[in-house]
Amino acid sequence: MKKAMLTLSVAGALMFSVVPAASAVGNGPGYGGNETINTSILTTYEEMADFLQKQDAKQAHMELEVIGQSVKGRDLYLAKYISDPDNPTILFLTQQHGNEQLTTEGALEFIKHLGTSKTKGILDNVNVLIVPMLNPDGAMGDVNFSLDDYIAKGDRHLTRYNANEEDLNRDHVAKTQPEIQALHTNVLGAFDIDYMIDLHHQGAWSERDGELVSGSILYPTTPNVDPDVLLGSKQLGSVVFNAVDSTGWGHLGKYGGGDAETISRNGLAVEYGISTLLFEMRGMSDHYYEPYVLGQKSNGYLIKQTVTTLDAAVRAISDGSIEQADVSFWDTLAVQQWRDTE
Ligand SMILES: [Zn+2]
Repeated sequence: MKKAMLTLSVAGALMFSVVPAASAVGNGPGYGGNETINTSILTTYEEMADFLQKQDAKQAHMELEVIGQSVKGRDLYLAKYISDPDNPTILFLTQQHGNEQLTTEGALEFIKHLGTSKTKGILDNVNVLIVPMLNPDGAMGDVNFSLDDYIAKGDRHLTRYNANEEDLNRDHVAKTQPEIQALHTNVLGAFDIDYMIDLHHQGAWSERDGELVSGSILYPTTPNVDPDVLLGSKQLGSVVFNAVDSTGWGHLGKYGGGDAETISRNGLAVEYGISTLLFEMRGMSDHYYEPYVLGQKSNGYLIKQTVTTLDAAVRAISDGSIEQADVSFWDTLAVQQWRDTE
């Protein structure tokens, strides 16, 4: 008995010794006591729609399109910046999983930047397509199943699934859900897209080299991907890694993903020849499983991570430097590991 307690206290001390670096960017909800998960600070679907319409009215180069409707009838938006159809084109997709919201917050911030002098001249040589919040019903918790066991307090729960309790990022082959049909028909099949970043959030406790990651990235891993498409994906990953991992607050691992083509990272690379990159950021906005949820103290740097990612990708495509990006880092980048938080 005594020995068991001793072991426990040693484990506790060890766990504590690695916490400070992570605490700097916020944890939660139950870790080290107690942050309430409050989703009222997140942008609602209605606020997003209003924001996009205002930016559309304000930004001469932006065109806002409705590409379809969700199960519950919410309009799905595409923000387009097309200066020349012959330019290389990149698509940013957020929130296929409704409880992964900070990627959308970052995409909206980036849309705002595209209307200012911060990105002057860059859009002359690259077309940018942004589909924010592909799963608005899940994001607003307006679904046909119970979310009573979800952790966030207050009125709004966010869930991975769409209103039919389907996982949109497992539907890219069968295409049974209206959100996925809209994306394929009116975006993927309608534009000549070269690059795509699919933005997600993962659990809060993955680490690389003993330090919690701010996110992890991965290229297509299906054997059916064309080698040139794969190279483009690895180059896109190189641009993102160099922009984020060098910031001081960013720490990226390699995501341990499979080869199923039902997910966009693999499926879109094969079906459309798009160089895809999956970006899984740290921690979800809501879930029933506590280690997946991250407190809002981390919101600032995770939103900044999204903006940094989108900005770096657009710049590197615009000036052509992406084609010289060094992909050798992928050979040594460690696959993230899940830290035991029990
Ligand atoms: Zn996801």
